[in-house]
Amino acid sequence: MEKNIPVLYSKKEECCGCTACYTICPKKAISMVDDEEGFQYPKIDESKCIRCRQCIKVCPIKAKN
Ligand code: SF4
Ligand code: SF4
Repeated sequence: MEKNIPVLYSKKEECCGCTACYTICPKKAISMVDDEEGFQYPKIDESKCIRCRQCIKVCPIKAKN
């Protein structure tokens, strides 16, 4: 069964825009996208993502939980 695309954040409070996930992604599947207030949030390109979950492991906010 195919694994799901990781969820980097479900609310904006769960992402500080540090770009660590963007930097670590071995497939360059993550892009940082400006929201309406000019803050950058990561977006995963599902067609490039290999579900390695490195982006989840590196995220400083998720590491706290
Ligand atoms: S799971 Fe892996 S390939 Fe997919 S976005 Fe995260 S780091 Fe990139
Ligand atoms: S590593 Fe976590 S906090 Fe940093 S940009 Fe990615 S999702 Fe946001």
